[in-house]
Amino acid sequence: METKESHNKANSTDQNKGIVYIIGAGPGDPELLTMKADRLLREADVILYDDLVSPELVSHYPALKIYTGKRKDCHHFEQEAINEEIVRQAKMGRKVVRLKGGDPFVFGRGGEEIESLRQHGIRYEIVPGITAAHGASAYSEIPLTMRKVSSSVAFCTGHPVSKIQVPDADTLVYYMVASSVHDVLDAVLNKGRNLETRVAIVQNATRYNQRIFTGTIRELREREKSVYSPALLLVGDNISQFIGENWFSKKKKVLLIGNGGKNYDPSDYVTVHLPCSSADGSDRKMVQHCLENITHYQVIFFAGVLSVRHFFNCLFMSGRDVRHLRESRIITYGKAAASELVKYIVVPDFRLEPDKPDDLISLFRENGLSGATVLLPGSNLPDSSQLFALEASGNSVTPLCVYTQGFRENDEEIDLDFIDEIYFSSPSCVRNFRTVYTGIPERIKVTTADEHTGNECTKIFGGRLLQG
Ligand code: SAH
Repeated sequence: METKESHNKANSTDQNKGIVYIIGAGPGDPELLTMKADRLLREADVILYDDLVSPELVSHYPALKIYTGKRKDCHHFEQEAINEEIVRQAKMGRKVVRLKGGDPFVFGRGGEEIESLRQHGIRYEIVPGITAAHGASAYSEIPLTMRKVSSSVAFCTGHPVSKIQVPDADTLVYYMVASSVHDVLDAVLNKGRNLETRVAIVQNATRYNQRIFTGTIRELREREKSVYSPALLLVGDNISQFIGENWFSKKKKVLLIGNGGKNYDPSDYVTVHLPCSSADGSDRKMVQHCLENITHYQVIFFAGVLSVRHFFNCLFMSGRDVRHLRESRIITYGKAAASELVKYIVVPDFRLEPDKPDDLISLFRENGLSGATVLLPGSNLPDSSQLFALEASGNSVTPLCVYTQGFRENDEEIDLDFIDEIYFSSPSCVRNFRTVYTGIPERIKVTTADEHTGNECTKIFGGRLLQG
């Protein structure tokens, strides 16, 4: 029997097990994460992550994720609330990772967070990360120090304006300058540097959309007042080392949409991955209606793995099972759908493996599958070429939304201005992409996983040149 005392004991052991890792995630390029950070993220029960950490990076780890940033539509945590949440999670005996952009101890409020852990007697460790200044320096090829040019470097903040300092160092790196570049430049001039001093702004350092401006203080003061965040301002003669085309800018930037796909050699390409995930979110009313009248459908046509998986989920949730499908003939389209179906102990009556979507019509005809009532479980974005082929064979088709396709909510919108190539891994990725982007700029090369995806792309984005 559990006594109050033993209960308390259990709680305090749980609490003793709780540990917090304050980890730096680096400036953006996911490969700049340390091996230690990667291990701890894999082992974590919960990850609390900030604005500057990409949702794509954290999505690779199984832990519960809590976003503590300020991105639109999300609850905004104040620092106090973040501290409390970290403590609460640790007291439940969990392995907590507090993941921060760059390094936690460089303008990262890591100091404040450990303060609260110390107060509560919670165990913690700190894992350093690559700070934005180091990322920007390496990826823009501007050394922070250099023999005979610069022998000291200082990291400073441009925010708040009242705290701007100009230390006596050869190279100055200013963080948080999005709205205060001009104030920083004024302060630097006031400290005695002249208008011809070289400066650089490195925005989105180490990411696919890294942008660099270099010039003199005079030139930068003539430009617009604000820069986009996140950006760093560098000041010093070392900036003369900058070259327009460097090892990072030379690489082609590829947007990979969906899962799997071509292997792009990292020595030539920077890849940005936009997963096109499925989520629950069926058309409940319609699902209920179709399942109640399931014997009405002479054919159930499964066009993909997710259609199978989500359809059976809906079927089981409604208290039914495969016995309810005995009146219908079951057709799969492609190998993957057929193998998925076997997991539900169902062998398809027909397995269609067309090379081209056009084959579908003839396959239907050849197999005497014309004129049937067909249920087509799929996503909220049905494949119109399949629908057309099924209808063209004289069938009466009912598309049924059993899952929702979409990009993840927290994913940032990709700026196509920086993209050289887009790779679509499936037709549904093309349709998904179309829900967010109205078109694809002519200069971007488009590649697709197969002909079917290529056709979808041509259909949706017009007759632009596709490269397979
Ligand atoms: N702890 C972080 C800094 C957090 S303060 C680190 O060590 O890098 C936030 C500021 O960091 C931003 O306003 C910006 O000035 C800078 N920053 C962070 N990531 C950046 C990036 N990828 N490119 C340019 N600046 C970045």
